[in-house]
Amino acid sequence: MRITGRTKLAGIMGWPVAHSRSPALHNFWLDEQGIDGAYVPLPVRPEALAQALQALPVLGFRGCNLTIPHKEMALSVVDRVEPLARRIGAMNTIIVAADGSLEGRNTDVFAFRENLREGAPDWQPTRGPAVVLGAGGAARAVVAALIEMGVAELRLVNRTRGRAERVGEELGVSPGGISILPWEARGAALADAGLLVNATSLGMAGEPGLAIDLSLLPPQAVVVDLVYVPLETALLAAARRRGHCCVDGLGMLLHQGRPGFEAWFGTPVRVTRELRAAVLSTLVAPR
Ligand code: NAP
Repeated sequence: MRITGRTKLAGIMGWPVAHSRSPALHNFWLDEQGIDGAYVPLPVRPEALAQALQALPVLGFRGCNLTIPHKEMALSVVDRVEPLARRIGAMNTIIVAADGSLEGRNTDVFAFRENLREGAPDWQPTRGPAVVLGAGGAARAVVAALIEMGVAELRLVNRTRGRAERVGEELGVSPGGISILPWEARGAALADAGLLVNATSLGMAGEPGLAIDLSLLPPQAVVVDLVYVPLETALLAAARRRGHCCVDGLGMLLHQGRPGFEAWFGTPVRVTRELRAAVLSTLVAPR
């Protein structure tokens, strides 16, 4: 990395932020592209978010990513929010426009779609109903992506029913296009499905495991786990043993960085095997 008088700047705001893999991701691309730029962690307390965001153009930053707990709060601070981010109710990427105004985007929908296309190139939205476990921020992005991709039937399974109902309503899914199922029905929901996505935190290192009976899942169904620590979750291992095509969550993490990088530093980037290895080496599961 070289820092000159013209270095282009971007970063990630969070509280805490030290756990974020985004600096490893973006600085890999900066090095790879030989760009005079730097991407830095920006620890910003929730009460200082508006002040910190407004300082971006003042300090010459091209923009930033947002992580917990800022993704929702930032919606009321920026000058423009893309419609998709407004519908999802969260943004993870901010672009500073030429006039210094701030534009908020959500790149998780793009990232889920790219990761699925890359990991399961033969999967088609017509393969059958998609089962999504979870109704948090990640599940909202998954549901939005699947609708955009043309999945006709969604089965949303969540522990807290009201939260799942709000996902359908707020994303404007037609009532016939989505069924909300209780958590106890997660195994039964897999009958004739073409896709299963775990968008809960279950299975993540330090969290309880995801207990699910896969026996009703048709062999051609693709299984995606958004959890990426560990990379090979118990769900993916079980699905692989049954012969399913499996897609891990690391690719989504990497793809979500692309739109921001391309806007800030003005060059397209790819998710390569080398990038996966570099970011993977920073993901150490807690003992
Ligand atoms: P979140 O908003 O906190 O949602 C967590 C979800 O998990 C909720 O649906 C919650 O159900 C469910 N859940 C938690 N504990 C449960 C339990 N014991 N039994 C049943 N359900 C349980 O989190 P999020 O931001 O959506 O993230 C979810 C996961 O996706 C995390 O592991 C995160 O690391 C991962 N993720 C990955 C990427 C990527 O790029 N690969 C991107 C975003 C997120 P309730 O609604 O009932 O609480």
